[in-house]
Amino acid sequence: MKTNHEIQIVDSHMHTPLCGHAVGEPEEYVRQAAAQGIDLITFTCHVPMLEEGFSQKGIRMKDTELPLYVNMVERARELGEELGVRVLCGIEAEIYPDEGMMKRMDATIARHDFDFVLGSLHASLPIYRDWLKQHGKFTDYDIVEDYFTLLTEAIPTKRYDSFAHPDVIRMYGVVKKFEPAKHEASIRKFLQTAYDYDQCLEVNTSGLTKGDFTLHPDPIILDWATEIGNRFTIGSDSHRPESVGQKFKEVFALLECKGIKTLDYYVGRQRHTLAKLPVMPGH
Ligand SMILES: [Zn+2]
Ligand SMILES: [Zn+2]
Repeated sequence: MKTNHEIQIVDSHMHTPLCGHAVGEPEEYVRQAAAQGIDLITFTCHVPMLEEGFSQKGIRMKDTELPLYVNMVERARELGEELGVRVLCGIEAEIYPDEGMMKRMDATIARHDFDFVLGSLHASLPIYRDWLKQHGKFTDYDIVEDYFTLLTEAIPTKRYDSFAHPDVIRMYGVVKKFEPAKHEASIRKFLQTAYDYDQCLEVNTSGLTKGDFTLHPDPIILDWATEIGNRFTIGSDSHRPESVGQKFKEVFALLECKGIKTLDYYVGRQRHTLAKLPVMPGH
């Protein structure tokens, strides 16, 4: 078993089949991590939500399955101990502008001592699309502005350790085209607020494999974040074992070019920082 100070490469975002849109047992993700020389992985399955509009099949585990999720990750942790991969149990929580719903989600999250809470606003969810319509947000410009406003407002709640795929609004056809420069002021406000509250952004490599094949966040946003001094976690957002560590080699090189010196990860909701920016071994 590797000790904390030997941890050099982490992948802090991956799923289990309980969400209904991921495949592969958690143990397979652990084996894949071991094969790639990744020292620590964090499962972050989508949090159960009780409300209609969030609870559709194929999106998230049922509320009653939370203990099963914890057990699955525990089994993976045991295998990880054998293979030299530290395995943590996190959760991908939602961001939604209804404090009542968020409080109920908090109660769900409080049922287990999670290592890491990722915050995601899944703008593709029908419930959020309905909310946009109800609030008169029809144009791409307004939808993107609203997205970053809601992210910014989520920061002072201190509910999340890191913000997953911070510009996922660009995906799934929610807007026709995402042009960060048009939203510089509101994106910078989000970045500055995350900095002020000492919360992380996620570098999410899955964006390079789908949609418009761009890293989350967009390299322009990375430049602004580097200027401000934001901290980052990293995740492959794997929904199948083969994706663990996907695109890490090229992304580490990009982060280095951008002047990003290190990455963070969370254990028991406490932040840890890698000694230096990782390098993928054996490539
Ligand atoms: Zn998912
Ligand atoms: Zn995810």
